[in-house]
Amino acid sequence: MARFIFITGGVVSSLGKGLASAALGALLQARGFSVRLRKLDPYLNVDPGTMSPFEHGEVFVTDDGAETDLDLGHYERFTGVAARSTDSVSSGRIYSTVLEKERRGDYLGKTIQVIPHVTNEIKDFIAIGEDEVDFMLCEIGGTVGDIEGLPFFEAIRQFSQDRPRGQCIFMHLTLLPYIKASGELKTKPTQHSVKELRSIGLAPDILVCRSESTIPDKEREKLALFCNVRPDSVIAAQDLKSIYEAPLAYHREGLDQAVLDAFAITPAPKPNLARWEDVADRIYNPEGKVKIAIVGKYTQLEDAYKSIAEALTHGGMANRVKVQVEWVDAEIFDTKDPAPYLEGFHAILVPGGFGERGTEGKIKAAEFARTRKVPYLGICLGMQMAVIEAARNVAGMKSAGSEEFDHEAGKKRFEPVVYHLKEWVQGSQRVERKLGDDKGGTMRLGAYDATLADGSRVAQIYGGTHIEERHRHRYEVDIKYREKLEQDGLLFSGMSPDGRLPEIVEWTDHPWFIGVQFHPELKSKPFAPHPLFADFVRAAKETSRLV
Ligand code: GLN
Repeated sequence: MARFIFITGGVVSSLGKGLASAALGALLQARGFSVRLRKLDPYLNVDPGTMSPFEHGEVFVTDDGAETDLDLGHYERFTGVAARSTDSVSSGRIYSTVLEKERRGDYLGKTIQVIPHVTNEIKDFIAIGEDEVDFMLCEIGGTVGDIEGLPFFEAIRQFSQDRPRGQCIFMHLTLLPYIKASGELKTKPTQHSVKELRSIGLAPDILVCRSESTIPDKEREKLALFCNVRPDSVIAAQDLKSIYEAPLAYHREGLDQAVLDAFAITPAPKPNLARWEDVADRIYNPEGKVKIAIVGKYTQLEDAYKSIAEALTHGGMANRVKVQVEWVDAEIFDTKDPAPYLEGFHAILVPGGFGERGTEGKIKAAEFARTRKVPYLGICLGMQMAVIEAARNVAGMKSAGSEEFDHEAGKKRFEPVVYHLKEWVQGSQRVERKLGDDKGGTMRLGAYDATLADGSRVAQIYGGTHIEERHRHRYEVDIKYREKLEQDGLLFSGMSPDGRLPEIVEWTDHPWFIGVQFHPELKSKPFAPHPLFADFVRAAKETSRLV
C-alpha cells in the first residue's frame, strides 16, 4: 500500500514544483523506497499534445504513447522510473471521461456534479497502481486559488480522508520574496497562500519555500507558527546553479527527513547519495567546454526543447565538458548563408518540429554540417530535413521535400521523400490513421523497436543492434529512396523490425552525422546519459580540439 504525498504550489507559478517533486522522489529512492510521480493538470485540453510549444513548452512522450506535461520529463530524469500514460491527467481528460460515462448511462439517471462525479474520477486516477510502489507523489499543476484547480484540491482533500490516518501528507511550495530596501525575506505571501489552502480543507505538513537566501531562524519560526507546520518542516529551496544539485540541496535542508517524520517512519533508512554526488561533481567540475548550436523554430522558449537541452547536458557530463547551447532561429537561413552563424560551433543539432516554417533553414544547416564535416544530430524533423538535403544536393532530386509541407500549403510542390504514413505495425498490431482524423493521437507515438545495421556507427554507439526509442510524428522517410541515397553514402542504419520504416540514417564518410526518426532525448538521464547524446558531445569535443 503506497503512501501518498500531494504537492501543491502557492503565491506564484514557475517555482519549480515539478523539480522539487522529482528531487524528493530521487531522495526517497536513495533511502531504498520505490516511487512513482504523477501530475494532475487543471487545464481543459485533453492532453498537452495540441498546445503550442511556445506556450506550454515541450510535450513529453511516454513509452506507452501518451503526450504529457514536460514535468514528467523531470520525474523520469531524476528517478529513472519510466512514466506512463496513467501518470498525467488534465481536467479536460477527467471531464471528458465523466461526460462519456454520462452518455453511456453509467450514472443511472443521477445529476452529474463536480462533487462527487468529477472528484471521484480524480481519486480513481490518483490510486491507479498504488500497490506497486512505496510512495506515490502527486503534483497538482497551477497555484492554489486558481478556479480550475478546485476540483483537484477537493479530490485530494477527500482522498486523504478516505484513507487511514497517516497515509497521506501535503507539501506546499511557495515563494519568500526578498525586499532589498529592508533586507528582509517576507513571509506574508506564504501565510496567505496557506490560509487559502486551509480554507479549502487542506493543511500542509511541509512547506518548501523558494528564496534567494537561507531562511533566518526568526522567519522560520514565524512561518511555522502562522502556517501551523513544525519549524523543521519549513524547507528552504535556494536557487541553484544546476537543477541536478537539487536532490543534494533538498537533502541538506532536511526535506526527505521531514517527509519521513511526517509519516512517522522510524528509524529512517540511511540515504545513499553517491549517484547524486557523482552527478554534481561532473556538472560542477567540467574539464572543458563545447559549443553546440540548436537550429530550431521554437527558440524563444527554452522549455520547448527542454529534454534536448537536458540530454545535451547529460552528454557533457559523460565527457566531463560543459555544453554551451546556443539557440539559432532556423528561419534566418531561409534568406541568409548559414556559414557566418554556424562557424565556431563544435556541433549542430536540428530538433523536431511541425510545419514548414523554418525548414529550408534547417536543410541549409544540414548541408553546412555535411559539407563542413561538423558533427550533426538530426532529431525527427531534423532527420527528415537531412534526408531531403541529401536527396536534393547529393542525389540530384531538386524537388525533394516532405508531404507535410504540401498538405499544409494545400498544393503539390515536392517529390515526397518524406511521406504521410497511414498504417503501421506496433508490436504485433496493425495501426491505421487517416490524415483528417482528430488532431490528438494521430501520430506514431510511444516506444517502437528498431534494428540497427551491423558495423554501423549507431550499432557501435548503442553497443548492440536492437533498440527501443520513443516516437512522435506523422511523416516518415520513404524507403523507396533508400537504394539511391545509400549509393551516395547515406546509410539507412536503423530500420523498423519489419524493414519498412527508416529509423536512423548516417553519412558514412562524415566524422559524425546521424539523423534519428525518434526522440532519444526523452530517455536520457544525468546518471545514465543517452548513448547518442554522449557520443555526439564526444564528437563535439573532438571538433573543439581541432579548431
Ligand atoms: N513534423 C514531422 C512529422 O510529423 C516531424 C515531427 C517531429 O519532429 N516530432 O513527421
